[in-house]
Amino acid sequence: KIERNQENQDGAIIFSFEYFTPKPGHATVSGFVDTVTAMSRHGPSFCDITWRPRDPYPALTLELAGRMQAEVGVETMMHLTCVGMPVDRIDYALDTARAKGVRNILALRGDLLPGMDSVGASNGDGFTSALDLVKYIRSKHGDYFGITVAGYPEAHPSQIPDGSEEATEEGYESDLAYLKQKVDAGADLIITQLFFDAEVFIKFVKDCRRIGITCPIVPGILPFASFRSFKFMTETCKTKVPKEVRAKVEAARGDDAALAAYGVELATEICRKILKETGVRALHFYTMNKEGPAVGVLRNLGLLGVTQNEKKLEEKVLVGN
Ligand code: FAD
Repeated sequence: KIERNQENQDGAIIFSFEYFTPKPGHATVSGFVDTVTAMSRHGPSFCDITWRPRDPYPALTLELAGRMQAEVGVETMMHLTCVGMPVDRIDYALDTARAKGVRNILALRGDLLPGMDSVGASNGDGFTSALDLVKYIRSKHGDYFGITVAGYPEAHPSQIPDGSEEATEEGYESDLAYLKQKVDAGADLIITQLFFDAEVFIKFVKDCRRIGITCPIVPGILPFASFRSFKFMTETCKTKVPKEVRAKVEAARGDDAALAAYGVELATEICRKILKETGVRALHFYTMNKEGPAVGVLRNLGLLGVTQNEKKLEEKVLVGN
């Protein structure tokens, strides 16, 4: 279980891998488990799986989260969105995760459905925000689950006025204050939305500390590997793309190998800056279910040493000698 005060004592840099729930179908599902298994050899401190609220995905997410935990043997975090979900379905998801040995939840509101206002009100049954969900998990399950919440270094897209690239100062501050409420309600960890400017994250960490958020804040890193994934993720998340990054992406358009190489180079630079200039010692990779890009960054950072298991084995062999 991932806990608030579990930050690695020796200051070593830890990392985690995020996967999205693949489309149902036998081949993709076994391919998914193979990918997670292969990547688990690099020694992530945890792996997480996203939640897609509409059927048939929830059943598959629950199954895969259970397999990641029990079969692959990685510490698993399951995302769970709550908006528009009746409470009995939330209960089912949490009880099933628990029965499968999953001890970590990324508690999310999820994107609003048509007819809801900016904070999810008027959805009838259920919850309107991640804050509701954090409170509910703590009241129903005590300390069983480690709870993570989403943080937005550029503010949540709802705080970014139409036609603008940035949130207003007021919107940014209200977002931060709300994030603090999620942490105060019982979240152990924050994982951030992706960003392409390390300074944005560095400022966000300072601002969180200024208002009294003390839990670990883990940067969400996307080493994009194709123009499609770059476009999809930046448009969906309303990510600000610095001019020089956009120019390089445009220059590499049509050449996926060059684009992927740039994605790894940029993510490496961002990680280096963050590790140098903040006390942050954890990196979270949006893998897009691919091994190459995240592992490329880890290799550049010199973080692909022997895994914990290999270390133990090595010690055993040495002692045996
Ligand atoms: P909340 O934290 O509840 O709120 C979102 C924003 O609404 C706040 O940042 C704030 O601006 C505003 N707000 C809400 N309530 C208040 C309040 N009381 N006072 C002031 N402001 C308020 N989506 C998926 O569907 N599946 C996933 O698996 C998934 N994984 C994600 C993982 C990460 C790390 C991140 C960053 C996002 C993920 N998302 C996922 C996207 C997420 O569901 C959307 O961004 C969604 O619109 C907001 O969810 P939330 O949990 O941040 O919501």
